[in-house]
Amino acid sequence: MGKYPWQEMNADPVSSSDIPKRVALFGSTGSIGRQALEVLELFPEKFSVEILTAQSNDDLLISQALKFRPNIVVIGDEKKYNKVKEALTPQGTKVFCGENSLEEVAGLDCYDIMLAAIVGFAGLKPTLKAIENGKLIALANKETLVVAGDLVMKKAVQHFSPIIPVDSEHSAIFQCLVGESRNPIEKIILTASGGPFLGKKPNFLINVKKEHALQHPNWNMGAKITIDSATLMNKGLEMIEARWLFNLKPEQIQVIIHPQSIIHSMVQFEDGSIKAQMGLPDMRLPIQYALGFPKRLKNDFPRYDFKKVSTLTFEEPDTKTFRNLALATEALYRGGNLPCIMNAANEIAVFAFLRNRINFLDMMVVVEKTMEKIPFIPHPTLDDYFDSDIEARTFAADLVHL
Ligand code: NAD
Ligand code: MG
Repeated sequence: MGKYPWQEMNADPVSSSDIPKRVALFGSTGSIGRQALEVLELFPEKFSVEILTAQSNDDLLISQALKFRPNIVVIGDEKKYNKVKEALTPQGTKVFCGENSLEEVAGLDCYDIMLAAIVGFAGLKPTLKAIENGKLIALANKETLVVAGDLVMKKAVQHFSPIIPVDSEHSAIFQCLVGESRNPIEKIILTASGGPFLGKKPNFLINVKKEHALQHPNWNMGAKITIDSATLMNKGLEMIEARWLFNLKPEQIQVIIHPQSIIHSMVQFEDGSIKAQMGLPDMRLPIQYALGFPKRLKNDFPRYDFKKVSTLTFEEPDTKTFRNLALATEALYRGGNLPCIMNAANEIAVFAFLRNRINFLDMMVVVEKTMEKIPFIPHPTLDDYFDSDIEARTFAADLVHL
């Protein structure tokens, strides 16, 4: 028996019904959001776009809404409300604004699937609301599970709210697990590209500028996750995300550097057999898989050609230089509110680096110091997580003089 209801799902949410699935796209103007709309546009008979949300990019939100004609849009920045409302009211789209509207809209019944593509801690509340609302969650916002994975997964089971990963590594593992619900996992192997500074040492890293750190060799992503990939925090967050998504013990999670990003991750079973999911690094594939699950929808995205990338290599991560991975491993093992503290400190550190306030290596110092400082709570409540997040942010912001 699988551990989570979606692992037992034999109903086909896409093809068992002729009615298009109604999608709520939270974070539609981001990298994931824009690629999700590319996918949704390919299958108008299978999906309709019901809700779009964005924090501040009003022009893009308006043009997306004029094209996809959702029922509802939410603009986070209240100063932009009037402009968005004036642009979209004539076509009958309802417009809301402000942080609380995200949760309110997530609690409505007018959609079937939430694609959670907001970045950072801000994604937690609306995603929790959608879970309590019993919706299917296509989860890109890994921070939701990093911060409060235990509570989120308990609620997901309680409200029969399937969580299908969008993060490419977790989608890979999920795909390897389909049909294997009776076979325990021995371990999972998360692959990491190593980012733009693979093999570099502190004397180089101390001088890197944000322009350089924002150039990821294989993936084109939002700024925060691109910096997280360069510091290896992204892989740290992903270890914790995987721990909750697949109900694993920390020692069952291994990270390996695989610079070509063709193998998106692997599962090793108890007989020693390893399954891998492969493909070109293209986020549209895991987005489409999560939306279409359990059906694979036909597309014409570029295919991986073994003759073009014929060497796949693997190496150990350098956790001495990229301290974030060691810090995240500590957070993974100790649990409690430590991942939440780490995440908050990291969000501040990345923000400060992107504004040239601190150097590349300082980001890891900020995370480490904050993890040492904020009191550890072994069994936090949801309120404890919110309090720890604020405490950690305040402390880290002080460190970087924000
Ligand atoms: P992004 O920065 O490109 O987009 C973020 C989206 O969230 C935007 O639509 C923005 O308007 C919205 N947003 C930002 N702050 C907000 C706030 N305070 N309140 C409400 N909305 C807010 O980010 P992204 O790269 O698309 O990543 C989104 C999430 O998906 C992240 O959690 C990231 O870790 C995860 N993810 C991204 C990729 C990728 O390829 N980009 C891959 C795997 C996982
Ligand atoms: Mg990933």
